[in-house]
Amino acid sequence: MIPALIPTYNRAPLAFERGEGTWLYTTDGRRFLDFAAGIATCSIGHAHPHMVQELNGQIGRVMHVSNLFQIPQATRLAERLVANSFADTVFFCNSGAEANEGMVKFARRAQAMSGHPERTDIICMDGAFHGRTLAMLSATGNPKYLEGFGAPVSGFVHVPFNDIEALKAAITPQTAAIMLEPIQGESGIKVASTDYLKAVRALCDETGVLLALDEVQSGVGRTGKLFAHEWAGITPDVMSAAKGLGGGFPIGAVLATEAVASCMTAGTHGTTFGGNPLACTAGNAVLDVLLAPGFLEQVRSRAALLDTLLDELVQDAPTVFAERRGLGLLIGLRCVLPVGTVQAAAQDADLLCVTAGDNVLRLVPPLTLSENECREAVSRLKKAVQSLTDKHNNKTLEPTL
Ligand SMILES: *Cc1c(COP(=O)(O)O)cnc(C)c1O
Repeated sequence: MIPALIPTYNRAPLAFERGEGTWLYTTDGRRFLDFAAGIATCSIGHAHPHMVQELNGQIGRVMHVSNLFQIPQATRLAERLVANSFADTVFFCNSGAEANEGMVKFARRAQAMSGHPERTDIICMDGAFHGRTLAMLSATGNPKYLEGFGAPVSGFVHVPFNDIEALKAAITPQTAAIMLEPIQGESGIKVASTDYLKAVRALCDETGVLLALDEVQSGVGRTGKLFAHEWAGITPDVMSAAKGLGGGFPIGAVLATEAVASCMTAGTHGTTFGGNPLACTAGNAVLDVLLAPGFLEQVRSRAALLDTLLDELVQDAPTVFAERRGLGLLIGLRCVLPVGTVQAAAQDADLLCVTAGDNVLRLVPPLTLSENECREAVSRLKKAVQSLTDKHNNKTLEPTL
């Protein structure tokens, strides 16, 4: 019989009762160091006192009024995102997939309203992940996710990631936008090179194609800049954000230049829940922490410490790990052993991590973690390595019958 809660996920048999900072506690008293952070989402850790205070206050006043009315919390969050990014304006929604849907609508309509209604195609990357709605499945392009859901939505084409010649060759008079993650998350923490991103920007400028960045996972401080594209010294025309933006509360956003967004007049796009007072209070509480002087520098120094320690780990455990990659606190360890086995061993050592494609163990801790927690995570990974190599040695010692 099908369970009441539909089994569309492979859930670990763990339930958490409460969290504190980088730590999660199960109902039966186990304490885990959380390098999963709700899949790169709990950006300021669990039960951050400032977040708790702000949300509690807002819940007691008003949670939702709809976009029929003014929402000062949304205005404030938008103004702060605009002040700290390339964007001139922001649309709020509720998830990453929804933000990406909005981003594609912005790009197509901007082309249509500037005299190019034929420009509707979106060039996406092999290995992309843009979400699970019908159109974003097609943008993602992974046949495994599309199976059984009917014909793919038209207008999405794919080229190899980090390959500027392939991208040039794919541009046609019908191309509206190039859509990519500056760091591919789900498919294995693959970083777009700075040269590539600069060349993509130049190509867009030459051809009138819009640059649409999916920063759902890489954005909101994750890489030690507010948005990952800042490392390459480029700006997009339109960008999505979500995961870390609400610190665990659902919120997504489409950020855009005025040139793109001026086509989005009243009635062209909407959502009932998007940008409600509670969600935007969460977003503002996250920004209070992230935009405090020195905070992003601290993220970069934590990341540098982890890079050093993890490089040592990879070097010392060549039968388990092949390579470290990523940027800031969006970290991938490509595994030699099956990543599921490594993740399970880490979990047995009371460390939570996420898997990603390409046999990669994904480490995405809260951005607020301490130096000691960095060291503790690596020491737990060492424990996991030890148990894996012990197991391996036992196996090879067993007589084959
Ligand atoms: C998680 C993710 C999405 C989808 O976000 P949801 O909130 O799950 O819809 C889209 N793009 C990227 C890069 C992501 O990491």
